[in-house]
Amino acid sequence: MLYLALLILVIAILLLWQSNRQRKQAGLPGGRVVYTDTRAWGPVEKPLYDHGLGLTGKPDYLVDQVGQLIPVEVKSGRTPEAPYDSHIYQVAAYCLLVEKTYGKRPAYGLIHYPQRDFAVDYTPELESALLEQLAEMRRDDMRQDVPRSHDQASRCRSCGFRKVCDQKL
Ligand code: SF4
Repeated sequence: MLYLALLILVIAILLLWQSNRQRKQAGLPGGRVVYTDTRAWGPVEKPLYDHGLGLTGKPDYLVDQVGQLIPVEVKSGRTPEAPYDSHIYQVAAYCLLVEKTYGKRPAYGLIHYPQRDFAVDYTPELESALLEQLAEMRRDDMRQDVPRSHDQASRCRSCGFRKVCDQKL
């Protein structure tokens, strides 16, 4: 039993190490656990939009912190040990939209999970990785045939397009 517990612990550490390594290779910051005072969070009236990038989005909240507007994305469900890459990109996109809309670059964005908040630094590397993702999405948009990603089998199982998708798992 002890060996099994040790084996599971070693596998968990290896998986965490591997995901951190992949994230660093992609230029994504991991996210810092922070305490935030939700009373300072203000609602966002309308979606932010950048014509040049064709990008729009509405963070759940904006926090005014010493002259900086910090976007906040609220997530429900299980609290991960570190923010998911898709959530990091989402909050990075809000940072970019805040900068384009208000002319001030946020130093970071916040992801609020039920049990923990993470600050994701909006670094030039993260911005470049985001712009590359957006460019790739635009390229894929022009293509007739785009292979589906099956990285997350559970998402595929609960996908609303299952009835019409010929690539479902
Ligand atoms: S059902 Fe199709 S579209 Fe939906 S997640 Fe699976 S592969 Fe993607």
